[in-house]
Formats: sequence, structure tokens, C-alpha cells
Amino acid sequence: MQYISTRGGMQPLPYCETLLEGLAPDGGLAVPEVMPTVDGETLERWRALTYPQLAAEVLGLFATDIPRADLARMTAAAYTDFPEEVVPLREIDGGITLVGLSEGPTLAFKDMAMQFLGQVVEYALERKGSTLNILGATSGDTGSAAEHALRGKERISVFMLSPQGRMSAFQRAQMFSLDDENIHNIAVDGVFDDCQNLVKELAGDLDFKRTQHLGAVNSINLARITAQVVYYFWAWLRATDAGGWTELSFTVPSGNFGNILSGFYAKEMGLPIRRLVLAANENNVLDEFFRTGVYRPRSAEQTLATSSPSMDISKASNLERFIFELVDRDPARVTAAWRELDEQGFFDFTADLARFEDEFGIVSGTSTHADRLETIRAVHEASGEIIDPHTADGVKVAREYVESGVPMLVLETAKPQKFAETIREAIDVELEYSAELRAMLDAPQHVTEMADDAAALRAFIETHALH
Ligand SMILES: *Cc1c(COP(=O)(O)O)cnc(C)c1O
Repeated sequence: MQYISTRGGMQPLPYCETLLEGLAPDGGLAVPEVMPTVDGETLERWRALTYPQLAAEVLGLFATDIPRADLARMTAAAYTDFPEEVVPLREIDGGITLVGLSEGPTLAFKDMAMQFLGQVVEYALERKGSTLNILGATSGDTGSAAEHALRGKERISVFMLSPQGRMSAFQRAQMFSLDDENIHNIAVDGVFDDCQNLVKELAGDLDFKRTQHLGAVNSINLARITAQVVYYFWAWLRATDAGGWTELSFTVPSGNFGNILSGFYAKEMGLPIRRLVLAANENNVLDEFFRTGVYRPRSAEQTLATSSPSMDISKASNLERFIFELVDRDPARVTAAWRELDEQGFFDFTADLARFEDEFGIVSGTSTHADRLETIRAVHEASGEIIDPHTADGVKVAREYVESGVPMLVLETAKPQKFAETIREAIDVELEYSAELRAMLDAPQHVTEMADDAAALRAFIETHALH
């Protein structure tokens, strides 16, 4: 299996070669040259597998340049810090089943992909005999998932910028309690956009990027997208009976269109998915796109700070991979759409609007702060379960699309403990923290404070990077 760019300007590359790259050289995203497919017989055979075994099968369709035994070893190692099932399913009221994606070390679904990414990037670096210094900016979940997945790796170090004083106490503790030599937390005197601009400036200096072996593990990373495909198969296998060819629907709390894109890939591969329901919060550019066909990203100033903060995104970096399929894999049309976006601030696929649902099964909806509170309350009352605000956005929108006879699965993307304030506001309950979490919250913190200054960051990286 080779990977090509959505914009057509990249020599086909094997899986391991695309892992360490961000954007393709032509500004596009890496996509499979042909989407792998899975038939009914194979699906039935997969019912007997554990999660790591299934992951090796599914990822083996994408990573054909990695021997299967190596993949199996990596998926086994990736999912050890999880409960035995890795992704448990549980029913709540209203015919909805939650798919538990937040059982990993940082209590959010990003662990599902990052834990595998940590394994496979180390593996690819070993094969090449090289090292990598990850430079990233985070407003919370991504940074902690990356650090927990990459801590202690010999060939990788992490430089993670975060806006000083703007993360929750829980998020700060998750990152800053790490005491590994290869993890560098940098609190920048600024907001998230300042952090991101620093990353762009340094990564845009190609000479510096090359000499310092800089790389990224952001949400366009192909290893992350493919690792997320696995749990759609897992959930389908757990929620259906042997021998049936039951279609079911998934609702996905969405921001960067990474998670739901993986579901879309699973559907394209032949998994019987009826609908993929995209749930947005108040930052609903994607809901707008799937309802109207017009995609109009918003600026950082127009992006609201909400109580489901990991979905506060107004420019969905993975959408380009969906558009590539929408235009029947014609790179010239993808390039034209992004040129339009640059020139006029939006692109328009209203002519294809009917296909979004009919052909691709994607529908969407929006949830607000009041909806989140009401949904957390209603689920708690009817089912005794406490769900996090992002999952609540999912449940709220899922309820609008439940059909009789079609199981509706909602992806649980975080644990409520991460968002205790909103839980208190919704149901007036103080959440219990495990002894392990309390220890983390009380642990000494390791962070370097820095001015919003590219020269200072350069000097820091030159001193601490692996060479
Ligand atoms: C990242 C994140 C999301 C959004 O996922 P995308 O892949 O960006 O669409 C939703 N919920 C939580 C808790 C997250 O951390």
C-alpha cells in the first residue's frame, strides 16, 4: 500500500515514510492510493480477536511495509495501559450505546491513536537509524496524550508549548507531572495561537527544521487516523450478532474531523455503517458545511471558548481528506477548492449536498452549553451514568438521529473527571478521583516558562534536542 497526496504532487510513499511527515510537499495530506476493503467473511473471523489483535489486522491493511509480527508486538504494547477490553461498550437510555474511548492514561480518546503512534514512530526511527524532536502546541488534550505516549522513548523528544495559565489544573498536572528527560513542557507567555505561531515559525524555517530533526504528531498524522479506524470495527463487532450484516450508526463529537474521518474510512472499507453523525459544539463550522455545502472556516477571534474545549476548532485540518473522496479523488479539484478558500474565505459544494448523506452517510448537528448540561443531567437521571461534556454533545445530537432498528453508538471521547467543573454545574456532584489521579494532581510540576519569543525557543531547542 502506497500513500499519495490529496493535491497530487507527491511520489507515492510507503506507510512508514509518511509517518514522520506533516503536510505533503505540495501542501496536501497523505491518503491511501487505494482504500483497502474488508469482506463479510473476514469481519466474522475478526469477532474472536482481542483489541490489540484486531488492531494488528486492521493496521496491517494500511502498513503493508511493516511485518505482521512487528505490528502485533506494537499494538500489544500500545494498549497495555488500558482495561482488558481496551474499548468497553455500555448502554445508556434512549437506545444509545457509548463506545468507551477514554480508558487510556490521559482519559481522552487521543490516547487510542497516540499510544500506537509512539510505538510505530520509534520503530520507523529505529529502522532509519534517526531521531526526532517533536515540536507542538497544545491547549490541553493533544499535548498530554502525546507526552504520555512518547515519554521515555530513546529516539524521540517532545517540546510542547502551552499558553501559560490557560489550561485547567487537571490538564496542567497531566503534562507537568511528567519527569522524563525527553519531555520538555514550555509555558509560553501568550495564548494558544501565539504558541501555534511559534511552532509554525520554527517548523517553517526549513534549515532549522532539518538540523534539529523537527517533526509533528498533529491530528493530520496518518498513524493517528489509521489507528482510529480500528475502534469502529471493534465497536461494530461488539454491538452486532455473529452472522448478521447489521448496519449501525455512529455519532462522533468532532473538532478537527480526525475521529469521524477514521469512521468514514471504516465505512469506505466496507464496514456496514449506516450513518456517521457529526456532533459539533457552538464552534459549528462543520455542521454548517454538512448542512449547506459551504465551508467557511472562522478566525481564532471568532472561535468561542466553550465547556467542551477540545472541540473549539474552526478550521478542520482533516476535512481535505473527505473532500478528496467527494471529488472522486481528483487532486485538481481539491487544489482548486483550497485556492478558492484562500482567495475568498470559503468554498462551496452545494451542488454535491445530497451526496453527503445519500452516498457517504454523513449528517450533523450542533449542541450548546445549555444542551450539554441538560444532556449530562438527563443521562445521569435515566441511566446513572456521568458523561463528559464532549460525549454529551454527541448524545444530544445522536438523539436527533436515532432510528428504530438501527443501533446508535456514541463515541465517548473523554472521562468526566477531566471536566469536573461542568459536571458540578450540571448535576452538583463532586467526582471521585482515583488514588493514582490524586497523586498526579499533587505531584511536583516540571515546566519551563518562556516569553513569546522565537529566538528564546530556538536556543532552548538547540540545547535540549536529540541529535
Ligand atoms: C480531540 C477531541 C475531540 C475532537 O476530535 P477530532 O478528531 O479533532 O474531531 C473531541 N472530544 C475530545 C475529548 C477530544 O480530546
